[in-house]
Amino acid sequence: MKRRNETLILRADPILCDGFGHCAELAPEIVTLDEWGYPIISTTPLGAARSTSLRSAQLAVRGCPRQALWIEKVEQRS
Ligand code: SF4
Repeated sequence: MKRRNETLILRADPILCDGFGHCAELAPEIVTLDEWGYPIISTTPLGAARSTSLRSAQLAVRGCPRQALWIEKVEQRS
């Protein structure tokens, strides 16, 4: 029987995003920018509560001027 793990990842809505790249400044270890300034988000899980990557993702979510970012819980099979 396969075990299921839940993890958190940062997501962006490309329709809402304005492409000014503020999120890459707030969470540089998770977000890089493409050539037009739109975010490319790491698919690496954000880690446990209080981890640096999770805190950075939370900062980016709060700092996004278009409310285009959110943290999503996803299931991983192991
Ligand atoms: S901060 Fe928000 S609106 Fe700005 S580039 Fe990042 S996701 Fe897009």
